[in-house]
Amino acid sequence: MTTTDALVGRTVLALDDLLADDELLADALADRPALLGTAAVDQADAAAREARELLDRAADLLGAAAGQCRTSDAPGWARLAILDTFVRWTLGRATTCLHAPDARRPRPVLAAAWKPGLIACPSCVHLVTLPHGSRADRTCDACGHVTTGPEHGDGIRPGAVTYGPMTWLHGVCERCAHELPGDAQ
Ligand SMILES: [Zn+2]
Ligand SMILES: [Zn+2]
Repeated sequence: MTTTDALVGRTVLALDDLLADDELLADALADRPALLGTAAVDQADAAAREARELLDRAADLLGAAAGQCRTSDAPGWARLAILDTFVRWTLGRATTCLHAPDARRPRPVLAAAWKPGLIACPSCVHLVTLPHGSRADRTCDACGHVTTGPEHGDGIRPGAVTYGPMTWLHGVCERCAHELPGDAQ
């Protein structure tokens, strides 16, 4: 393991602990303006709102349900993968599209379960999409099951969640879809 990976791993686990503790989280949020400056906090919040609005609009267009959950209530496979890519980005250790979106000047960005550590701007959505029907496209991001197709009752349910300015794409098999918070069934 390289020093970077170790640093990312430690930061992810610390952030994961923080997000699970209401009191620590409230303190950390209250400390943000003093640590980062009001302008930076405002820009981060605006980018997060914009990402969420884009997600809601996409859900509307697709007729999909959009919900909300605490990060700590998301299943571990998703939470840790989201935080890993997010932390790499904030530490300047992510792979980015050629437009090099910068976490210090946050704008809505895209990431995907199947491209860990990659951050793309909305113009570079092709970097985070998979060829339709490819093996990766048919693989559940939660359990690794390679689905045989919806015609066999074994399809992939695509989903997206926002974490701050980052929209994280993923796909899960029918079995795992039932374990996601906010799932309608
Ligand atoms: Zn780009
Ligand atoms: Zn699965």
